[in-house]
Amino acid sequence: MTEHSFTLHRIQGYIASLYLIEYRDRVLLLDGGARYDAVRIETYMKREMGRLPDDLNLALVTHMHPDHAGGAPLLRRRFRTQIAAHIDIDKWYRGFRGASQHLIDTILGHYSARQQFGKLERAWYPRRLKPDYFLDDGHTLPGFPDWRAYTAPGHTLYDMVFYHPEKELLYVGDLVIKTGKKIVLPFPTLFPELMTATLKRMSHLPVKKLLLAHGGELKIDDSYSFFTELLPQVGKYGQTFFRLVEPFCSLAPDVRLYKKNH
Ligand SMILES: [Zn+2]
Repeated sequence: MTEHSFTLHRIQGYIASLYLIEYRDRVLLLDGGARYDAVRIETYMKREMGRLPDDLNLALVTHMHPDHAGGAPLLRRRFRTQIAAHIDIDKWYRGFRGASQHLIDTILGHYSARQQFGKLERAWYPRRLKPDYFLDDGHTLPGFPDWRAYTAPGHTLYDMVFYHPEKELLYVGDLVIKTGKKIVLPFPTLFPELMTATLKRMSHLPVKKLLLAHGGELKIDDSYSFFTELLPQVGKYGQTFFRLVEPFCSLAPDVRLYKKNH
């Protein structure tokens, strides 16, 4: 095993898939999971990897939704895992409107878990992440210099994706979702123009494999056509349910500011 070689592990969390990147002397988590995914990670590391959860050095959080930002604080409390996320991530649920959105998103998370997996578990989590490391566009991950962070706004304003240039591997969080055989954009897409720019930008990144939070691992032949073919979907929701729910997903202060200016 060289310094930068790793083994990829995938765990099915409460709502999202979680990926553990195991190096000889350290472990990285993509991304923070729902609250009790912290326990799933602990169990998995002990049973399947034969490692102590204290080896989990860093948890990345792509954005503040409950299935991505709920587990990391518990991991930090229990195993001193450090958290890295977008430099402005804690602005997302700010103020009264932010707090209301946080509550609604947690309820929608439960709804999604029930619909998909028929399960329900406690998923309340702090609306401020307080990351140990603040990431900006192009930053190298602390302790994992073979990975890069890129800003990827569209779903929320502070989404990030994480890229491994050597392996041409991209963890997309909620940027792209696979449901059945279909590849779709996330609900909600609160910033359509920014989503378009993000997809165009990603189309220029050499990618052989995508790691999805919803839909597992996906090999792709040509990242340019993969991402550009998604462009016509921006701003269009296939399901009536999404169109009905969208106003309840637009409370975060940044969405209001954006709508005022566009
Ligand atoms: Zn999300």
